[in-house]
Amino acid sequence: MDDEAKYVPPCRAALSAKVTCDACQKMLTLHSLRYRHRCTPMVDRVRRLTQEAQFAVQQRAEATLEAERASKYAHLINF
Ligand SMILES: [Zn+2]
Repeated sequence: MDDEAKYVPPCRAALSAKVTCDACQKMLTLHSLRYRHRCTPMVDRVRRLTQEAQFAVQQRAEATLEAERASKYAHLINF
């Protein structure tokens, strides 16, 4: 009786199986992969990561520049 209540049709059981998306290595159910998953193409992901890296480098450069400016002014003030 309990078994009957827990019975899941094979087609639905398959959809709730956990799978890993080949493209983005994300773990999700087969249902999500087939109907809901919006996979970011590898090219886009690489491009976005590159942009993020460039942005981070740029920010670090600006931070360094700010620090240099600040130390320059500090030097002027001290002097
Ligand atoms: Zn994916």
